[in-house]
Amino acid sequence: MTTHNLTVFTLGSSVFALIVALVLYLRLFTLKNVNEVERMCKAIFVVVYVSLFFTALSVLSSDILDAAIYVPILFVTTQSLIGFFLDKKTEGFVRFEIGENIYTLRLLDKKKITAFTLVWNRKMYASSYLVKVLTPREISAIMAHEVGHINAFKPIPVSLAVIVYVSLLALSISGAISMALDGFIHYSAIAFLVALYAWVIFSWTWEHTADIYAYKYIGLDTILVLQKITHTVPTKPNMIDIIIGILRSLKPTRAGALLVNPHPPPSVRLWLLFNIAENAPH
Ligand SMILES: [Zn+2]
Repeated sequence: MTTHNLTVFTLGSSVFALIVALVLYLRLFTLKNVNEVERMCKAIFVVVYVSLFFTALSVLSSDILDAAIYVPILFVTTQSLIGFFLDKKTEGFVRFEIGENIYTLRLLDKKKITAFTLVWNRKMYASSYLVKVLTPREISAIMAHEVGHINAFKPIPVSLAVIVYVSLLALSISGAISMALDGFIHYSAIAFLVALYAWVIFSWTWEHTADIYAYKYIGLDTILVLQKITHTVPTKPNMIDIIIGILRSLKPTRAGALLVNPHPPPSVRLWLLFNIAENAPH
């Protein structure tokens, strides 16, 4: 095969895999069982990896790929540095149990409800304000969600899953840029779009996985607290909503948006949980 044919084949495969990922993502909202949703989320992760793998392969023939090597290093360094500085700002700790494991939550002095996890070093943070305004059950639901992020790729460790994903993404994007510089604008545009869509679908699915994990361990409080924080009503998405929603979530909204994974609309997260809860055996 010539390089040209190889690019068409690999890019075509990546687009095909991405379409499969979108279709599977839409299927998520027709499932009524927690285990089915979990399996479907895993399937979406795998298909996104395949898509990014083909995108990365399609751009390997390009020259300037050095950036791809530095991005994973940058990712690890950034997460470690953020962790280091946040630890200095940590005001206190809360220990909590989910499943059979004990987790430590680091409290930060912030005047809004926030909780997040640095997956590389598996550190969970929340604002002390969150602990003040939410009930213990609600806090457990939020913590279970954060633990769900860490356990999303089991049996594969989260650090490995994420570093492979970041590397493929970096390879795809830096390859796309280098293809554009070489004058292959069409290929470059396709590779770029696939990479961005794959990034969002991956992040959205990761968010749902975390929600489902929390629902499994905490139950209905997961739904109630999400409603309380976001003030939205559950809405079932269609394919157009998803395609537009993905484009929307690519728009940077604030500083540091690139460090924060895009989230699916809260109304869609709620719908997935509602649908399961409604059909759960009583
Ligand atoms: Zn989350």
